[in-house]
Amino acid sequence: ALERYASIRDKPAETQCGSRIELQMNAGLMADLPSLSTSGAEGVGLFRTELQFLTRSNVPKRGELASLYKRVMDAAGGKEVTFRTLDIGSDKVLPYMKPTEEPNPAMGWRAIRVGLDKRGVMRMQLQALIRAAEGRPLTVMFPFIAQLEEFISAREALLLEMHREKSLNHVLPESLKIGAMLETPSMAFAPRRFFELADFISIGGNDLKQFFFAADRENERVRRRYDTLNVSFLSLIEQIVDRCAETNTPVSFCGEDAGRPIEAMCFAAMGLRKLSMRPASIGPVKHLLRRTDLDEARAVIDAARTSGAQSVRPAVMDWLKRRG
Ligand code: PEP
Ligand code: MG
Repeated sequence: ALERYASIRDKPAETQCGSRIELQMNAGLMADLPSLSTSGAEGVGLFRTELQFLTRSNVPKRGELASLYKRVMDAAGGKEVTFRTLDIGSDKVLPYMKPTEEPNPAMGWRAIRVGLDKRGVMRMQLQALIRAAEGRPLTVMFPFIAQLEEFISAREALLLEMHREKSLNHVLPESLKIGAMLETPSMAFAPRRFFELADFISIGGNDLKQFFFAADRENERVRRRYDTLNVSFLSLIEQIVDRCAETNTPVSFCGEDAGRPIEAMCFAAMGLRKLSMRPASIGPVKHLLRRTDLDEARAVIDAARTSGAQSVRPAVMDWLKRRG
């Protein structure tokens, strides 16, 4: 199997119907970067910046962060790296943060909520990212956006840092893309302005799914109870894809499910053209995509949806088996 994946490593994830699916990888540490070339990933679709904060005992300084991000971009050698700003909360407590007792940390004071309330750390991180780019293109996304106003504020904070850097005569990134992670069902129904303002949207399926089904992603008793291929969840994905299409907003999926071949294929059949996953999943996902006609897959999915099935998985599995 490994050889099979190696033979398609440098080939595109092009389906039988001629659609190109961009496959990127998720990362969080310098040590992940070599996988960019070994996996054949086309870029880093999600760089989780909190890991570098969690592995140390004091607040990193701006200069340290900038040199870290610069090394990440250097190692990517021109491939796009999508930096996600800090996603910390009371479940991921930084050693140098006062712990806050919260009954439901996953729905508590986390991610962009902390960033917007305590501007210092976010500003420093944004400055570090701008400086790290050293004139190269920069891609930043904000986690856990749950209403339009949060994205407006976060985006303005980044644009403000751009102005400050410029007034200090620092070199600005050649181009800047500002995206939002879509991780709460609310954003599938957000005002059109959200989709217009965002340069791109990345679906954080891990959180989106836990909030859609009200099933804690960390709780072994419930976390596997609801199928990602449940018709309700696929309709939510369809809604997001449609909203993004209205405004021509690029959309990707970066939760763990993107790395599961059947799920990835179904997402592509629902219209997603960009997926980000752990590096080891790129081979298996690409292998299945290259053998698939997405129109056929979509027909199978839609037939299962109209038949009243709870999940399209049995129908899709049956189709794959018959196809051989
Ligand atoms: C997600 O929620 O799907 C996601 C990619 O972010 P994280 O797993 O870091 O919450
Ligand atoms: Mg998330």
